[in-house]
Amino acid sequence: MTTSTSQDPFQLLRRILELEKRKGFQDTAAAGGLERLVARNLPGWLAEFPSQKVRLQQLAALLRGYADRSPAARAELIEKALAVLDGEAILPSEQARRPARPRAAARTAPVRIDRAVTPDDPVTVLPGVGSQRARQLEALGVTTVRDLLYLVPRRYLDYTQVVPIGRLGRLVRPGEEVTCSVIGEVVQIETRETSGGRRYVSVQLRDETGTIPVIWFNPYIARQLEVGQRIAVSGRLEGNGPYVRFRNPEWEPAEAELLQTGRIVPVYPLTQGLYQRQLRQLTRAALDLALPRLEDPLPPALRERNQLPPLAWALEQLHYPETLAAAERARRRLAFDEFLVLQLGLVQRRLAWHAQAGIAIPIDRDFLETFLASLPFQLTGAQRRALEEILADLAEPHPMSRLLQGDVGSGKTVVAAAAALLVHRAGYQAAILAPTEILAEQHYRTLTRLYAALPGGERPFVALLTGSTPERDRGSILAGLVSGAISIVVGTHALLEERVRFRRLALAVIDEQHRFGVLQRHTLRSKGENPHVLVMTATPIPRSLALVLHGDLDLSIIDELPPGRQPVKTYVVPGRKRTQAYEFVRREIEKGHQAFIICPLVEESEAIEARAATAEYERLQREVFPDLRLGLLHGRMSPREKEDVMTRFRDGELHILVSTAVVEVGIDIPNATVILIEGAERFGLAQLHQFRGRVGRGSAPSYCLLVSDASTETARQRLEAVASTTDGFRLAEIDLELRGPGEFLGTRQSGLPNLRFASLADLSTLQAARRTAEDLLRQDPSLSAPEHAPLAELVRALWTRSVADVS
Ligand code: ADP
Ligand code: MG
Repeated sequence: MTTSTSQDPFQLLRRILELEKRKGFQDTAAAGGLERLVARNLPGWLAEFPSQKVRLQQLAALLRGYADRSPAARAELIEKALAVLDGEAILPSEQARRPARPRAAARTAPVRIDRAVTPDDPVTVLPGVGSQRARQLEALGVTTVRDLLYLVPRRYLDYTQVVPIGRLGRLVRPGEEVTCSVIGEVVQIETRETSGGRRYVSVQLRDETGTIPVIWFNPYIARQLEVGQRIAVSGRLEGNGPYVRFRNPEWEPAEAELLQTGRIVPVYPLTQGLYQRQLRQLTRAALDLALPRLEDPLPPALRERNQLPPLAWALEQLHYPETLAAAERARRRLAFDEFLVLQLGLVQRRLAWHAQAGIAIPIDRDFLETFLASLPFQLTGAQRRALEEILADLAEPHPMSRLLQGDVGSGKTVVAAAAALLVHRAGYQAAILAPTEILAEQHYRTLTRLYAALPGGERPFVALLTGSTPERDRGSILAGLVSGAISIVVGTHALLEERVRFRRLALAVIDEQHRFGVLQRHTLRSKGENPHVLVMTATPIPRSLALVLHGDLDLSIIDELPPGRQPVKTYVVPGRKRTQAYEFVRREIEKGHQAFIICPLVEESEAIEARAATAEYERLQREVFPDLRLGLLHGRMSPREKEDVMTRFRDGELHILVSTAVVEVGIDIPNATVILIEGAERFGLAQLHQFRGRVGRGSAPSYCLLVSDASTETARQRLEAVASTTDGFRLAEIDLELRGPGEFLGTRQSGLPNLRFASLADLSTLQAARRTAEDLLRQDPSLSAPEHAPLAELVRALWTRSVADVS
């Protein structure tokens, strides 16, 4: 261990004092003795951490003359010094405000263990963890001590905010949200039903000052509670005055020792057979035993610059925060780490990718012009520009990695088709990857059609490979790819399979980026010798966010629609005019067209959403359109069922497709002319715009009906914004402003490695991490400096693990 000033002195001292204790107070823990260690380092520490002056001097004073003391006196001094250190970390703001609270209070039991524990040890080194407990922990994804340190509490129970029940009535004010915790005894449990038939559990909870009703819309809770039991309840109050109650609060059995200490305690995700109390003991032990040996991957200077606390502090506060603000500060530090490692990987990847040797494609300009002249339309200026950017990349002896962003209907496919054609012309192969079979099939048809006017001998052989390609065709396609007879292949995930091999893959096009990700990109790349990669997306993401999210890509934007496109006429329809909206839909169908009806977004779960959509579908079929053929699409259906209903809709067998938000992005049904969106106010503007892009793809005028019962001014404004502009990027910006990036992107951003602490809503942390990654790599492109070694290791671990996951 180094004693350089760049290390957190309190961590260092704690480690040394503990060692001194273990060695029996012989002043052998530090070479030259404790007093000298402190004296030698004090000036440096004071210079680096001036805000800690008082404590540092206190510690120095305690250890002065240590060598001359008796063992008993030494033991006492060490305890005092540890008390100064206890529960503390370098965090001036936290510390100035609050007196040190003895941390030991929250410990369930002092843990003593002979052998030192390192973070990478299996959990079985912890006291009380045998093979059964280890299996339970594994179900939570915890196999090492480090996993335990990084186990994220789902939430906290704040025993520091416990309120006497009798005072609750005075806490609520109209229009304000009050969240608090109470502890009481269960005096009555009843299961009841609302007038709508929903079952709920009603419990009376009592303490010395009063009684409060608590209700849960979850009948199972009745089985978990008993009259006479003491529980802690934490959540939002509703009602007012004497009529307050808790509705669906968090709860747990009240633990006596926690009540006394008045702490904030973590609530972990659980698994069969494992209880909060046990997990708390385990995380406590992991922190006590392993934190001293945990290295902080962030060099102190970098930490200071970004105002981040040390790792050990963050992990301690993640589990046992002193305040909820401290827990949030801890989360931000851990989120920064996640973003930084991700960004380091992205930026490094981009630099490395560009530095590699790739296939320089000679661009046959005459052939390109022949192709473009054979099209039934002229490329727009924006398409032309994007194509030129792509061709310039293809001609380079380094592999391209470019994102092609363009609003729905902006004509990305033809740009990709031209690029693929030139690759074919140069004697190489291209692969186009789509997220679903129906989209793959659609691309396949489009390509075949676009190439149809080329002279026979110059037409590329295009193949389609998906999960439902019959086995005998599959064999010949695989052979054609290996021999090079097939020069362009369109497909789904099936293309990523091990057995798919190419003769000379030079271009991989990935459509609808947000369904795949960085990792699949990597798998496709590995199938050629550094092929050029083009990613296409219709999700209009503002440039700032795109740069961060797709940090390893260059960006081309098609910001112009082909001329003569009829804009989809968009109307906001208040709920009371719903019947008229249905009549409108019916008239379009009578003209021979088709319609989409999108069900309201249900946030709770996909299962509930699927049920709601099924009910809506049945109602529409029975009561509104009994004479028409309707189909249903929702997220709980199997891929096969989804493909099936989409195919029937595409082939005109169905008049109306009733769907949740899962309806295919990019799906092209030219005969569909109207899309009715129920509960439109619940969707993001960009999402509404995506829905709207499902129609207006043919020559007939098309319509989007935004049906909404919401009466608030903001809801109306948002919907009017969609009705008044057809510019997806503009809408994306408005949406980002109105809702922030978290909701804007949806909570699950597939294709990104799992983020435990970080949220994409946290744009400032994301950008700070991005800047830091760029700075670091500018100074040290391969992260080979010794102080960057831990970071380099994390980057390596993340990227190798993630890539292994997809193959
Ligand atoms: P998207 O960007 O949504 O994938 P597509 O590539 O599917 O858009 O193009 C949408 C439609 O517009 C297709 O029918 C395509 O043939 C047509 N199209 C593309 N470019 C042009 C253009 N420059 N002029 C006219 N029509 C075009
Ligand atoms: Mg498309």
